[in-house]
Amino acid sequence: MVLISPERTKRPSDFVSKENDFTHLTSTNCPFCPGNELMTPAAELVLVSKDDTLLKLADSENDRVEGWNVRFFPNKFPAVSPDSDVKYSDPPLQGEPAFGYHHVMIVTPHHNATYFDLPVGQWVDVLATIQDRVRWLYSKKTVSYVSVFVNSGSEAGASFSHPHLQTLTLTRLPPLIQEEAETMHQDMVELSQCSMCRVLQLEINGPRKILQTDNFVAFAPWASTSAYEFWIFPKRHETSFLKVSQKEINDLAIMLRASLGALGAALSKPSFNLAFHISSEKKTTKQIHWHLEVYPQIVKWAGLEKGNHVYINQVSPESAAEVLGSAARKELAQIIGIS
Ligand SMILES: [Zn+2]
Ligand SMILES: [Zn+2]
Repeated sequence: MVLISPERTKRPSDFVSKENDFTHLTSTNCPFCPGNELMTPAAELVLVSKDDTLLKLADSENDRVEGWNVRFFPNKFPAVSPDSDVKYSDPPLQGEPAFGYHHVMIVTPHHNATYFDLPVGQWVDVLATIQDRVRWLYSKKTVSYVSVFVNSGSEAGASFSHPHLQTLTLTRLPPLIQEEAETMHQDMVELSQCSMCRVLQLEINGPRKILQTDNFVAFAPWASTSAYEFWIFPKRHETSFLKVSQKEINDLAIMLRASLGALGAALSKPSFNLAFHISSEKKTTKQIHWHLEVYPQIVKWAGLEKGNHVYINQVSPESAAEVLGSAARKELAQIIGIS
């Protein structure tokens, strides 16, 4: 349940981004920077661009690949593990081993780059690497779902400012994806149409639309729980992120550059989280219309939210779309202008 409270509505400038305290980290001591690769576990995939071709390489235990674009390695402090020793236990204190794989992807070699200015070409490499690694992770036995997410800025839970994302596998679908899959399945059975395709028909020319490209649309969702939250959907009904074509990857890169650029410009580079909602690639599970969700972290959830799952949103999705839409159109004009 969401309470949109217009009397509390604030201007974008009223949301002052807290200074992220990452000043102790510079390109000299940042473990995600080129030259410091030995401070991280060996990368299982390293993308290197050489003479206009992309090479997929891997670190060896004592040696690291240099001159990379993107690196993907096991998280040094994983939340799940392939050899978890937790024992199964019955309700009411039910427990089971947290089997899985937890990785970090460094999305740019540049320490001072941000998600608000990551170039389109770099996004293309990052999205292709995500596709590659998600496919690989789904080939593992204990993996039912691969979660891909970004924590950017200290308010969003990041420990490092150097732009990165994480993948974490689960032995079952996360509750939110399960819910989306159930809803879509039910609507497919009862109405012969995907619930999100119906939402897109309403949003694509509506007051909550932020931006559209050839293949994607970004909009501020109805009853959003976070101020300035927005979602990016493929316009066509697509369930598998792994089947997204190179052409669509290029287009999604433009959409991400423009919409995150707009978020940074309109709200002075706030902390935010981004989550991929993708279908499980395991045959037995129900599918969803895959998409991305972006949650700016600019208002703290308090007692009402935590205690009741009832949310006060001080910014209506229509005002969010107006602010982000006008900034995103400017970003898009610049991107198209220079490409
Ligand atoms: Zn760095
Ligand atoms: Zn759909």
